[in-house]
Amino acid sequence: MSEQQTTILGGGIEIDLGALVRNWQALDKVSGKALTAAVVKGDAYGTGIKTVGRTLYHAGARFFFVATPDEGVLLRKAVPGAFIFVLDGLVPRTAADYAAHNLMPVLASMSQLTEWLDFCLNRGEATPAALHFDTGFNRVGFRMQEADLVKRELDQSGFQPQMIMSHLACADQPTHEMTRKQNGLFQGILNRFPDTPASLANSAGLMASKDYHYHMVRPGIAVYGGKAINGRPNPMAPVFSMQVPILQIKEARIGETVGYGAAYRLRRDSRLAIMALGYADGYFRALSGIGGQQGGRVAVNGTVVPVLGRVSMDMTAIDITDVPGLVQPGDLVEIVGPNIAIDDIGDAARTIGYEILTTLNGRFPRRYVNVPEGIEVD
Ligand SMILES: *Cc1c(COP(=O)(O)O)cnc(C)c1O
Repeated sequence: MSEQQTTILGGGIEIDLGALVRNWQALDKVSGKALTAAVVKGDAYGTGIKTVGRTLYHAGARFFFVATPDEGVLLRKAVPGAFIFVLDGLVPRTAADYAAHNLMPVLASMSQLTEWLDFCLNRGEATPAALHFDTGFNRVGFRMQEADLVKRELDQSGFQPQMIMSHLACADQPTHEMTRKQNGLFQGILNRFPDTPASLANSAGLMASKDYHYHMVRPGIAVYGGKAINGRPNPMAPVFSMQVPILQIKEARIGETVGYGAAYRLRRDSRLAIMALGYADGYFRALSGIGGQQGGRVAVNGTVVPVLGRVSMDMTAIDITDVPGLVQPGDLVEIVGPNIAIDDIGDAARTIGYEILTTLNGRFPRRYVNVPEGIEVD
């Protein structure tokens, strides 16, 4: 176990590295012969890129995907031996920086490819990079029609990409026809580059079918315990949990209002607890409980209770009228934990668990638990 950080306020975020490792290993098993990478963009989905990078490397992961080259530089310090791909592609005029930190851009346009090939030529070394084809996502990536031109450029230069990849738009919806269509287009691309390893699947693609595994899979959310496929039970172990303290408890009467805008009017005499959490901590204002529509839910002593009124910047009221037993200021409220999953908050805020996970890292200290032997934590 790591040395526990403490604050005067108490509360905080806990990252279970044991669960993280179990999740990665379970995905690695499902992916069979395909290599299992780990996507650690967005500070490892809000869980800490350096510690998570070291932990997954220790568990056997060798291939990592970051979004930005700066994330790559950070990760490189933590895992000197890893292969690191940069999903944003090649930021213009920075090729030498990628090479200096041994980062592989996932090249996504003709101008990026040309710049990288020129860089390799000047350097006299085929510096590794991957290629991203856009099979319908319409985000970054070569267009389908550019495949022949890319092939010609590669043949002329003799450059062998490390990998060819694409990204699925709808793999979280298991019956969506888009996934099969993208897979078909991807195979069309791969036919032109028969000797190059291929990668298509995110977490959902990995879990959906081995048809999408190819040579490498790229899970992100499932490694962190989030739900990858809609409408199915989530088989992954939770990695992230969070508790915050109660600041004050008050009895309020039926008809009184709660919080900014007097947006919630009490329908009964109620016991309110004011917890030290607000939108400045990443607890979205969309989780306000203003009657009618669904608001956020938290747990107190194992009882799930609603948010009442608007979430403000640093404080939020919850209704503890129905919580049995004594509740006092300083007691901790479960924001994410055994009773409240990341994806429950995502649903209540009308977004997805990914956004909750990457945002809920506010001002509370992060503690790592179940730290594998020999892993240094930040
Ligand atoms: C974020 C991302 C992934 C990981 O997706 P998850 O749904 O979190 O598993 C894989 N590939 C690319 C290109 C991505 O941008």
